[in-house]
Amino acid sequence: MSLTAGVIAVQGDVTEHGDAIRAAARAHGDEVTVREIRQSGIVPDCDLLLIPGGESTTISRLVEREGIDEEIRAHVEADKPLLATCAGLILVSRDANDERVTTLDLLDISVERNAFGRQRDSFEAPLSVTGLDDPFPAVFIRAPLIDDVGDGVEVLATWEDRPVAVRQGPIVGTAFHPELTADSRIHDLAFFDDIAVDRSTAPTE
Ligand code: GLN
Repeated sequence: MSLTAGVIAVQGDVTEHGDAIRAAARAHGDEVTVREIRQSGIVPDCDLLLIPGGESTTISRLVEREGIDEEIRAHVEADKPLLATCAGLILVSRDANDERVTTLDLLDISVERNAFGRQRDSFEAPLSVTGLDDPFPAVFIRAPLIDDVGDGVEVLATWEDRPVAVRQGPIVGTAFHPELTADSRIHDLAFFDDIAVDRSTAPTE
């Protein structure tokens, strides 16, 4: 299958995410073209979409200014897969508890910025993730704390009893940075596992 993946490239580890998407695609025998998104007009051509970490205040401002916010919304409404990590997770949440971030309200969670693992700004932890056979080496960097999860949200992983990876419909969200280790299983889970692929190729009316 030949797919187009878009990475919102306002900030964050855009190259690393592109590499992880390509690695996950390769493992499935799929071809993928990765496009970096800084302006409107590209998201509608994307089968898969990724919103990376960074500063959610900045990303929120820029996607709104460029009109990319409405395109992200349409992508999710069309049931196409979206992986949102760290600041990306904050952006798609229902409530960031911070007036400087206009959330897209696509994922029924509420978050508190920079609150997870406050005592250690960044750390790595092995995580059991639903759908993965072995623990995933998760890197947390000033990660958001998910403090409320709606009924329709599946928690895929927890750390110290806190949800840190979730799924709702076509969206997978992580509080950690899956692009920072040479392990593309989270990108695989979000984009290329059977559920995600069925969804992205489902006929639309
Ligand atoms: N602290 C950032 C924010 O609140 C998120 C951190 C990250 O993406 N690594 O936007």
